[in-house]
Amino acid sequence: MQWTKSLLNFFYPNRCPACEALIGAHELLCDACGDALLLEQDGYCHYCGKTICRCSKFPHAYDRAVVCSAYEGGAVPAVIALKRSSNTNFAVYAAQLLARRLEQGALYYHKIDCVMPIPMHRSKQRQRGYNQAALIGKEIARLMDVPYREDVLCKGRSKVEQHQLSAEERARNVDSFSIRECSLDGMHILLCDDVLTTGSTMHRCAGLLKERGASFVVAAAAATSVPKNQKKQKDNPNEEDTT
Ligand SMILES: [Zn+2]
Ligand SMILES: [Zn+2]
Repeated sequence: MQWTKSLLNFFYPNRCPACEALIGAHELLCDACGDALLLEQDGYCHYCGKTICRCSKFPHAYDRAVVCSAYEGGAVPAVIALKRSSNTNFAVYAAQLLARRLEQGALYYHKIDCVMPIPMHRSKQRQRGYNQAALIGKEIARLMDVPYREDVLCKGRSKVEQHQLSAEERARNVDSFSIRECSLDGMHILLCDDVLTTGSTMHRCAGLLKERGASFVVAAAAATSVPKNQKKQKDNPNEEDTT
C-alpha cells in the first residue's frame, strides 16, 4: 500500500486543502494551516458548539458539542474542497482531532456507543459520490473502535437547501429528516457533520435519536461557523451550504 500511495502522489501530488501548498504523501495539512485551523478547547461552548454561546437563545436536543475548527480563513476552502470531492484531507484531520478530544476531555466519562453521520439525501449522495459527514464519522468510529451506523437516520428530499435559508427558515426546514423504527435505549451517540451553523440540523437529528431512547447525544463537527462580527478574516466568496 505504501508504494501505491507514493506512486499516486507522483502523478497527483498531495496538497494542503486550506492553502493548496504541496505536502508529503502522508500529511493532511501543511504545518502552518494545521496550527491555524485548530480551535482551542476554550474557544467554543462545549454545550452548543458555538464560539459565542447560544445555549439560552437556542435550546437544543444534543447534550454536548465538540468541534475542530472555526469556519473562517483556511477552514473555508478546506470544507469546500471536501464538499467538491477535490480533497478529503480535512475530514481525516478533523476526525483525528475530534476523536482525541472525545477520548481525553470531560466527554471521556460519557462512553460513546456508536457514531452516526447527519444523513444526506440519496440522490445528492449519488451525485457527489459520498456524504462528507459520513467520511468524518467513519474515521472517528475507526479511531475510537466503536460501531458506525448510517441505517438509522434518513434524509428525504427537501425543496430547498439549508444554505439558501435564513436561521429561522433553517429551523423550520428540518422536517425532511426522519428515523427508522429501532431501539436506542440508553445509548450514547456521536452525531457528525462537516459544519455546525445554526445547530438546527443537529438539534432535529438529536431529537429523533432521543425519541428512540438515546440518552446522550454529542454533536461533533469539523468546523463551527463564526458570527459575522467575530470573523477576523474575510471569508472565501465561494462559501457553500452549511447546516
Ligand atoms: Zn496549508
Ligand atoms: Zn452554549
